[in-house]
Amino acid sequence: MSTTPACPICARPRCSFYATAQDIEYFTSADDFTFFRCHDCDVLFLDPMPSDRLEEIYPTNYYSFHVDAERSIAQRIKRFLDERAFAALTRNIKGSSLAALDVGGGSGWLLNDLKRADPRVKRTAVVDIDPRAEDIARANGHAYHLTTFEKFETDDRFDVILMLNLIEHVTDPMAVLRKAKQLLQPGGRIWIKTPNFDALDARLFRNRSWGGYHTPRHFVLFTRDSLVRHCKAAGFEVAHCSYTQGAPFWTVSMINELRKLGLCRVSAQRPSIEHRLTPLFHIGFAALDFLRMPFSRTSQINIHLTS
Ligand SMILES: [Zn+2]
Repeated sequence: MSTTPACPICARPRCSFYATAQDIEYFTSADDFTFFRCHDCDVLFLDPMPSDRLEEIYPTNYYSFHVDAERSIAQRIKRFLDERAFAALTRNIKGSSLAALDVGGGSGWLLNDLKRADPRVKRTAVVDIDPRAEDIARANGHAYHLTTFEKFETDDRFDVILMLNLIEHVTDPMAVLRKAKQLLQPGGRIWIKTPNFDALDARLFRNRSWGGYHTPRHFVLFTRDSLVRHCKAAGFEVAHCSYTQGAPFWTVSMINELRKLGLCRVSAQRPSIEHRLTPLFHIGFAALDFLRMPFSRTSQINIHLTS
């Protein structure tokens, strides 16, 4: 590496090369993308970040754009776990009527689950860049703001803010954290879910386009410690932090290995999330991670924040 890029969080150039990776899920680009590690912040970041190529790197068949996807068994298990997690999230929020915002929430399907988990959730809103999700979100009773979170302007404040698998997609995570803090009602809770690159699968597939890189759509990746540190630096208190299963990252990584061996076929038209092995792998790797969880670090982190 001839030049060392500046870290998107601390702006210092104290970074080293970490890995190169390719888009092994949607094949939107044949480019190699490079991750660097900032030693001060302990984050990985993509450099350059293809933030001016969003139309290209989020194809029309991108999974979170699938607004009426049928619920597979794996998805139904996930929904059951999500509803339990929502109940835990809102338990300590006071009030008889709560407002919730899902950042990057698409059609608002998680807000539907949140409302089922806590009937006090009355007013709901989505901020998302996907115009196709808008009608369904509105039909489900959610306000819909077709914009990025960075550009989202409102006088509303929210008791619950969901940022699930969101913060790793943005160019300036600290600005997003500060914005979320500004929109959070006192006593409210933010739930962030994001990959952890200090995990077994992340190490095994470090130089094999690990699924958690989600190349080139994940721009900044944390460890549990670095996420906690940066949330505190943005002014939050941490109410809860835990590892959770990283089955999607195992699955994408494994399907890519099988693809390289010529044992399974994925393409831009048939991305790995649609492969018939995916639901099976999800269940198997989720089970593996749940078994490992008491004594090892898995590749996703859940954190609940209060102001
Ligand atoms: Zn840094």
